[in-house]
Amino acid sequence: METYQVLAVIGVLIFIAFIFRNKKSTQKEINNLNEIEYASSSGMKFDDVAGNYEAKEKLQEIVDFIKYPEKYSRFNARMPKGVLLYGAPGTGKTLMAKALAGEAGVPFYAVSGSDFVQVYAGLGAGRIRNLFKKARKSGKSVVFIDEIDAIGKKRMNGNMRGSDEGDRTLNALLTEMSGFADDSGTVVVAATNRIDTLDSALLRPGRFDRQIEIMLPDRNARKDILELYLCKKKAKSAIDLDDIADMTVYFSGAMIENLINEAALRAIREDSDEISEEHIKKAYLEVLAGTEKKNRVENSRQKTVTSYHEAGHAFVSKHLMPDNKVVRVSVIPTSKGAGGYTLSTPIGDEVITKQRIKNQLAVLMAGRVAEEIFFGRDNITIGAQNDIEKATSLAVDYIAKYGMDDDSAFVNMGVLAEKLNISLVSVERSVKKLAAEIYDEVVDIIENNKGKVEKIANLLIEKEVINEEELNEIV
Ligand code: ADP
Ligand code: ZN
Repeated sequence: METYQVLAVIGVLIFIAFIFRNKKSTQKEINNLNEIEYASSSGMKFDDVAGNYEAKEKLQEIVDFIKYPEKYSRFNARMPKGVLLYGAPGTGKTLMAKALAGEAGVPFYAVSGSDFVQVYAGLGAGRIRNLFKKARKSGKSVVFIDEIDAIGKKRMNGNMRGSDEGDRTLNALLTEMSGFADDSGTVVVAATNRIDTLDSALLRPGRFDRQIEIMLPDRNARKDILELYLCKKKAKSAIDLDDIADMTVYFSGAMIENLINEAALRAIREDSDEISEEHIKKAYLEVLAGTEKKNRVENSRQKTVTSYHEAGHAFVSKHLMPDNKVVRVSVIPTSKGAGGYTLSTPIGDEVITKQRIKNQLAVLMAGRVAEEIFFGRDNITIGAQNDIEKATSLAVDYIAKYGMDDDSAFVNMGVLAEKLNISLVSVERSVKKLAAEIYDEVVDIIENNKGKVEKIANLLIEKEVINEEELNEIV
């Protein structure tokens, strides 16, 4: 009996000591974590960010908001509180946020969403409140939250996100954001590589309602980035930037910076006075060897195919629907997973007619058709996957929903199948027939205009992004 009692008392004592210790270390942890956040006048300017011209333009307005909030509150204009920068890693999102603070001349507070992932219960929310307390104390500021997806993931099926802690942290952030006044001159900038995974609560008005894509640099932007870093790092003026811009297709800004840095290290190792083209080219092979050797060849082959593919879309769009604006054709992959894209907007609210749907189907097919015509049936790529998905869905609607097919005019196939309890083989046949007919038409269009499509493709290979005027000139 006695020994049991003694053991029990010792047990309880150990337990209490354990709790006490744990509490103490949690407190210490809080203090440590708070010190990770830092404020600094970043000293960066938009000039330190090369390329990204459109994003800079959009952020220029935010600079004005921060500098002169009175100007906007006088008109009761709602100031943006949150700006979301999204795009591939290493494209300069953090750099851009720093430059925003630098341009506005306000302190820069930064945290990363990934720091919140494995913290003690309640700590994440506390850190958010602390961060904003500091920001408020300094008056105007830019608060930067990198990797916002780590705390702002989409809720699955409406309720579960998997972690209550993430919820609490996210809620604290949203509460803080709605807490500060519109004219406080504080702007929260968040960054993510994965906008598709974000909880839509984050994107609502009054939250991160300004969304700016930071894109992989196109050829021109790559030249700018090269120039920026070669200037900083002593380089021969005779370096052929065009050549290097070509080699670095699909590189991010960070990869280019790294390349020039490797070249500088090489120059130092060889005791040279300055960086030469040789150094860069050797560094390039070294950098790629670290990742994938074939990269260069693959990249340029991919770019060529994508250029013809997009040229097909762009040409057929202009050819069939001359009134459609083709705002931009690009062969730079987007952060939403497309290898390239042709961005077109119809003029006004056009009535959706049978002819219009057929034209849309033709435009969707034109990418694959161009690949087939210029590279051969056996060399078509997976690049049309998304086009095929969209076209199939549109063709099914054409037949089964809109009653536009001559063989089954004014019949909704879904209703028919349900009422009569029959299968839909006839729809399948009609969809395939429609698709095949339009495909053949597109083949004719491109065969008859091979020269023009090739011209567009070549311009894309050269410039990677072309605008409406350049396209019109060729078509
Ligand atoms: P992200 O936040 O998008 O992942 P960062 O801003 O951290 O990218 O970029 C990492 C580094 O890459 C920067 O510090 C800078 O040296 C370089 N960099 C990336 N994009 C650019 C750019 N557009 N202009 C100049 N430097 C860039
Ligand atoms: Zn396509």
